[in-house]
Amino acid sequence: ANLCVVSGFAVNGVAQLHSDLVVKDLFPEYHQLWPNKFHNVTNGITPRRWLKQCNPALSGLIDETLKVEWANDLDALKGLEKYADDAAFRQRYQQIKRDNKVALANYVHGVMGLTLNPDAIFDVQIKRLHEYKRQHLNLLHILSLYRQLRDNPNLDIVPRVFLFGAKAAPGYYLAKNIIYAVNQAASVINNDPLVKDRLKVAFIPDYRVSVAELMIPAADISEQISTAGKEASGTGNMKLALNGALTVGTLDGANVEIAEQVGEDNIFIFGNTVDQVKALLAKGYDPLSYRKKDKHLKAILDELASGAFSDGDKHAFDMMLHSLLEGGDPYLVLADFASYCQAQRQVDELYRDRDEWTRRTILNTARVGMFSSDRSIRDYQQRIWQAKR
Ligand SMILES: *Cc1c(COP(=O)(O)O)cnc(C)c1O
Repeated sequence: ANLCVVSGFAVNGVAQLHSDLVVKDLFPEYHQLWPNKFHNVTNGITPRRWLKQCNPALSGLIDETLKVEWANDLDALKGLEKYADDAAFRQRYQQIKRDNKVALANYVHGVMGLTLNPDAIFDVQIKRLHEYKRQHLNLLHILSLYRQLRDNPNLDIVPRVFLFGAKAAPGYYLAKNIIYAVNQAASVINNDPLVKDRLKVAFIPDYRVSVAELMIPAADISEQISTAGKEASGTGNMKLALNGALTVGTLDGANVEIAEQVGEDNIFIFGNTVDQVKALLAKGYDPLSYRKKDKHLKAILDELASGAFSDGDKHAFDMMLHSLLEGGDPYLVLADFASYCQAQRQVDELYRDRDEWTRRTILNTARVGMFSSDRSIRDYQQRIWQAKR
């Protein structure tokens, strides 16, 4: 990184939060030496692939409603804001989301033989498998719901389908252990008659762009749950919000700017902030103290070590559990667990009011125009390269 700063023409943090961290925490001395070398250009995504191509039904509805070339001028989606309160428009938007969920369910049935209920919340986490992205925090929440259902078999929760897509780097054994844990939990939960249709877990194999193009238009929830300070930007967060998924996210990377754009009522923010993470680590973070004071969390962790999800093998998830506990939980999974579960309860509550839910998803589509890659390319030209034609 030092060689990059010294030899590079410009340095960019790819979202405002990280550009600030690069200057303040990572390279304050270089910044003092060369203040004009440091920039922010927030990442973007192409609306041609991530709306027009992957979601033709929603694209058609937008064409018909706005009657403008929005795909090359994504700020034009602002024109949809006023339709968030239009019952007929809401109905069509909602029906498109349901059709996209049926299409994804058909794909999942074809490749995995698993039947998904399109009226459940489709809760989607798709991204590389990495500890900092915290797929294991998502898993702990799933196991929390499963425990609550067993403690109270008549518990009234909104049915949810948890969908994962991820690959691990070849030598990243811990990441592979997390994939294994999600798949093992899935096979127990999906086959437990007590659960009925209330929970399903699907780790879709061979995640790639063509699978993302099917999953994103079908998502109700976008999981963007990295430890604050670790995700430089994220772009999956932008693709999902554009297609009308509500974000459950930490104040990390571009989530911060997505929250600013869509408004705090239209996103579920949880967890420790960058400053709170720093303070926790400075005073000596101890994950074991979280296990000790939270009996429910302790029961979940104990069950993972009991063999209940691994045909009696008590060591199947040793790597993951060691990382979370004796290993010091470097990504503060346990510190954010309670706050994450709280945000997920808010999701549940809002989904019961389908009009209000749809209103908020429409506002997400309408307000994320600045995340077009056209805007980021213009920023690169104006702020960094200034190439003359
Ligand atoms: C957009 C995209 C990513 C990046 O996802 P993040 O959630 O931002 O990490 C990764 N893989 C594929 C296939 C994508 O389309």
